[in-house]
Amino acid sequence: MNTTDDGVDRTMRNKGHGTLDVVVVGGGVSGLVAARRLVAVGARVAVIEARPQVGGRTLLAHAAGLTLDQGGQWLGTSMRPLVSLLAELGIDTYRNPTLADPEAYHVWYREGRREVYQGELPPISERATIELLEAVAELEKIAATIPVDRPWDAPGAAELDATTLGAWLRERVSEKDTVYLMTAIYSLACVASPAQLSLLYAAWYLGAVGGFEALTSDLDLAVEGGAGSVAVALAAELGERVRCGWPVRAIAHSGDGVRVIGPGGEEIAARRVIVAMSPADARNIEFRPQLPTSRQMLQVNWQQFSLIKFHAIYERPFWRDESLSGSVIGDLPGAPLVVDGTPEGCSRGVLVGFVALHGPRLLGGVDPDVLDDPERLRAAALNALISYFGPQAGRPLEFLTRNWAVEPYITGVLGACAPGMLTAHGETLRRPVGPIHWAGSETAVRWAGWISGAIEAGERAAGEVAAALSS
Ligand SMILES: Cc1cc2nc3c(=O)[nH]c(=O)nc-3n(C[C@H](O)[C@H](O)[C@H](O)COP(=O)(O)OP(=O)(O)OC[C@H]3O[C@@H](n4cnc5c(N)ncnc54)[C@H](O)[C@@H]3O)c2cc1C
Repeated sequence: MNTTDDGVDRTMRNKGHGTLDVVVVGGGVSGLVAARRLVAVGARVAVIEARPQVGGRTLLAHAAGLTLDQGGQWLGTSMRPLVSLLAELGIDTYRNPTLADPEAYHVWYREGRREVYQGELPPISERATIELLEAVAELEKIAATIPVDRPWDAPGAAELDATTLGAWLRERVSEKDTVYLMTAIYSLACVASPAQLSLLYAAWYLGAVGGFEALTSDLDLAVEGGAGSVAVALAAELGERVRCGWPVRAIAHSGDGVRVIGPGGEEIAARRVIVAMSPADARNIEFRPQLPTSRQMLQVNWQQFSLIKFHAIYERPFWRDESLSGSVIGDLPGAPLVVDGTPEGCSRGVLVGFVALHGPRLLGGVDPDVLDDPERLRAAALNALISYFGPQAGRPLEFLTRNWAVEPYITGVLGACAPGMLTAHGETLRRPVGPIHWAGSETAVRWAGWISGAIEAGERAAGEVAAALSS
């Protein structure tokens, strides 16, 4: 690259010929990070976002005087790309005081019975504990054989990808609690149940994030002002380069570049495009000419899994009076997974819950009719919280829900692979198609589907484009 004293690549800037260097389609964290990196090397960039605001699956809400994350929220120190970006942006994190406290008690609620426990493992039987630890050790052994950046090339990849984590567990595990715990863990990590996940995918995922310990424990940090503020800060830096409320309908591409076509037929020309969204979202864009069959198959078959996230806001975090952390693994349909989401330094108390949408018999399984009825959903969630924390939990100041299964332009919370997907189509996840490059968290090597993965993917795609523009 022909860089000058200020580090800016003049060659790239001069090659613009009146068109932009790059259009980034998707103003989530991944697209914004890609744009920021490209602007830093002198590229002329526009970010096009369909929704009225940037951030995508990170989304701030305001209630009872608090700023809350209705989308992505927590992180851990192993999520290096996110930790570095926060440092660059000057955004601080804080540790959830009760999650970090080894003396705090968590709630385990199964079949009408409530128990509290300290440490990492719920009070399951000795046999269930042994089964869990053995299954995890075996999964980690498999994970060690899987190349993190090319899981489809793992030894025995086809066999591993021909079965589900659920079927594999059934062969090894007889204790209901072990299955339930594995379901809860993968429901949090991948928003899918073991029965829905390829064994290859599940083991690869575990290895790529750094093992079971990272998957279950490295999520105790939150972002000052909310994780949604990351996209807001990135967009503020990018200024007028960001355009919201502009759903891209089509991308015409050729050896000369791309034309990104908007809702009313308006066009933006550029030399390259980065499509920064999940493969499931990308299938709503028309590509002219049609994408190669392998990429088309990836997009058509890609699954995004979803959940409903809720916030119950209380006058104060009353559960802490009893040394409770606010964390629950339970089997009550309205709130099978709960965490204390109280922002730092705030006198109110916030419980964050997740309603799993991946099957009626899993994690309690909520009646499908309840999902679209706000009053019944609220009642189901609050009844669960009362069972976990007592009657005070039934009297929140405010109760907010966000159903990520029905969001415009965003297909779901997180992409994960069913059997056959990784070996058949995984290789096309990151492979550019002419001037089209792919970002979005689902294309990440580590923490795919998470904010950190979105950043890794944005940086990787920006690197590809910068190299292509300067060659
Ligand atoms: C409820 C929930 C909880 C989560 N919890 C966590 C957590 O605690 N920690 C964590 O790290 N991660 C979490 N995540 C995941 C994390 O938020 C996402 O992985 C990350 O934000 C994805 O960023 P992205 O930029 O890759 O994709 P997205 O945020 O999905 O961005 C893609 C963007 O593309 C836009 N778009 C789509 N189609 C078009 C089109 N045709 N034209 C223009 N624009 C288009 C979309 O509107 C969207 O803004 C959570 C997500 C949700 C929803």
